[in-house]
Amino acid sequence: MAKKGAKKSKGLKAKARCVIGIDIGGTNIVSVIVDRGAKVVAKVDFPTEGAKGPDYVIRNMAKNVKAMTVKAGLSHKDIAFCGIGSPGPLDSKKGIIMGAVNLPGWKRVMLKDKMEKLLGVPVGVDNDANCAVYGEVWAGAAKGAKNVTGLTLGTGVGGGIIIDGRLVRGANYNAAEIGHTSLNPDGRECKCGAKGCFEQYASASAIAESAREGIRNGRRSLITEFVRGDMTKITSKTVYDALVQGDKYAQEVWSEFIKYLGAGIANIINGLNPEVVVIAGGVIEAGDRLFKPLNDAVRRQTFSLTFSAAKIVPAKLGGLAGAIGAAGLVINESDFYGL
Ligand SMILES: [Zn+2]
Repeated sequence: MAKKGAKKSKGLKAKARCVIGIDIGGTNIVSVIVDRGAKVVAKVDFPTEGAKGPDYVIRNMAKNVKAMTVKAGLSHKDIAFCGIGSPGPLDSKKGIIMGAVNLPGWKRVMLKDKMEKLLGVPVGVDNDANCAVYGEVWAGAAKGAKNVTGLTLGTGVGGGIIIDGRLVRGANYNAAEIGHTSLNPDGRECKCGAKGCFEQYASASAIAESAREGIRNGRRSLITEFVRGDMTKITSKTVYDALVQGDKYAQEVWSEFIKYLGAGIANIINGLNPEVVVIAGGVIEAGDRLFKPLNDAVRRQTFSLTFSAAKIVPAKLGGLAGAIGAAGLVINESDFYGL
C-alpha cells in the first residue's frame, strides 16, 4: 500500500527541493536534510539502540526524521526522496538488508518498503561505506571528480568506488569491499574468514594490534607507559601520541602501517586509475605525518602515469559524509533505485 502511495506522488515529489539522508551506524544514526546543491539545511543524530531490534530502530528513525523536518520549517511536500546508508551485505536494488554485524536481528530486513510506508516518500538504500565516499564526491574532498576511490580507516576499512561519475555496485551490489582485499595471504586472520585482509594491516585497529604484538614480544615503548601497562587500552591514537614524542617503536609501527596502506592504495591506483583517493577516519588528523610518507610509498608501487593522475587527500565531511552521500545518491542515481 505504502509503496503505491510513494509511487503515486512520484512525478510531483521528484521535483521537491529537499532530500533526506540517513546513515545507520552501530551506535548512532545521523540524518540530514539537504537541498539539491548538497547544502545541509537540517541535521539530527540519535542513538541507534540496535539491541531493540530492527522494527524499533526503523520506527524510531522515521519518528526522528519527521521531527527534524518539522523543526526545519519544512513539510512533507518539500521532501523529494530519502536515501539511507546501511551496513551490509544488502540488496540495494530492492532495499533489503541481508544482515549487519553490528545490528542484531537484521536478517532480510525490507528497509526500503518499511521506510516508504512510515515516511510516505520514495526511499533508496545503499551500503554505508559507498554512501560516505559518494558524499565526498558530491560535496566534499573529491567534489567534481569523476573517478574516485574512498577508504574509511576505522575498526575495519570501508571502501567505495566511483567510475565515470557513477557508484560501482557490482554483480550483486557488494563491490568495493576493499577492506577484505588481501595484502598478505599468509597473514593475520580476518573476521571474514580469509587471511591477511587489507583491514588487518591498514586500519586504525590494525595499528593498535601491531603495537600490542610487538610489546607482548618484549619491545619497549612509551605506549606501555601511556596505557599504564593495560594492553587493551592501546589505540591508534596512543601509538600516534608516542610517535609524536619521538618513540622509536611507535615510529616502526606507523611505518609498517603506511607500507601496507601504500600497497593497498597502489593496487587501487593501478587497477582503477582514479583521479582522487579520499582517506577518511581519525588517522587523517596525523596530516603530513600520514600523507607525505604515504604518497612516497604509493609512488614506489605504481606506474608513474597512473600515479600522476591521482591525488591522495583527506576527507572533508567527517561524520556527515554517509548521510549527505545517501541523499546525493537518491538524487543523482534515482534511476538505479527506480525512484
Ligand atoms: Zn577480511
